[in-house]
Amino acid sequence: MQPTILKRIFLVLSFLTFSLQAFSYQIETLDDGLYRFIDDRHRSIFMITKQGALVTDPMNTAAATWLKGQIKERFNVPIKYVIYSHNHSDHIYGGEIFDDPQTVFVAHELAAQDIYNTKANTVAPDVTFKNEMLLRLGSKTVRLAYHGPNDGRGSISMFFEQQKLLYVVDWIVVGRMPWQKLWSYDIQGMINSTEDVLGYDFTTFVGGHANIGSRQDVARYLRYLQGLYSQVTAAVLDGKSLELIQKTVDLSEFSDLDNYEKWLPLNVEGVYERLMEESGIGWRPDIVRP
Ligand SMILES: [Zn+2]
Repeated sequence: MQPTILKRIFLVLSFLTFSLQAFSYQIETLDDGLYRFIDDRHRSIFMITKQGALVTDPMNTAAATWLKGQIKERFNVPIKYVIYSHNHSDHIYGGEIFDDPQTVFVAHELAAQDIYNTKANTVAPDVTFKNEMLLRLGSKTVRLAYHGPNDGRGSISMFFEQQKLLYVVDWIVVGRMPWQKLWSYDIQGMINSTEDVLGYDFTTFVGGHANIGSRQDVARYLRYLQGLYSQVTAAVLDGKSLELIQKTVDLSEFSDLDNYEKWLPLNVEGVYERLMEESGIGWRPDIVRP
């Protein structure tokens, strides 16, 4: 093949790749300076004020590059803060794109410890906190809080107080079932943390995955987790097998959630495994095992 033809094919392919990539990113306007950034399955929030921008999870290098370009083009304000939701790389890689002397990186101390120990390939946080931290930008405040273990390490909630908007990644999801076998989740911790954030005066919920929801959606999600956990626990204490529990658990009031049919048996298996291992029921002398 002639070099010019090869070059043309290469150019067309590069353009297509670029278009597909750019097409998968979206920015949605929310309320009073808040925006939701979408990269395929992942979502983060950013806030624009006259004093600068506050960005949450950068997700990955390509997504962060696109987002930074959009913030520059649309708002042209300096990026003052980058906040990591927790330690998992699919949410917090790409931090280097925002690395700048005027940008402060914030995370929970357990997320920071994990980023440091595992040499995660993103920017290490400049500032960490233990329980709660209040960030101010212009007239806006964002309350960061740790509610105990729930998913990964140092996973926090972010409450945008003036907009009454709560952002949580991974341990609350609305419109969709919790992820498959609940890998890496502390299920009792998810219940405790979700009960905790329902104490905030929020009206809008944005998750790191899936849909935007209301306070009622978060309360309903909590009811799902509680129902799942209590039904599986009761069945395990009754000496039922995993297969039987998967057939008999009744959470049909949640059948409208995405992936309900496919992921319900996996959610059950996830709780069953935690009960066997974390709660030690697998070696409890007083429980009859099938
Ligand atoms: Zn996630």
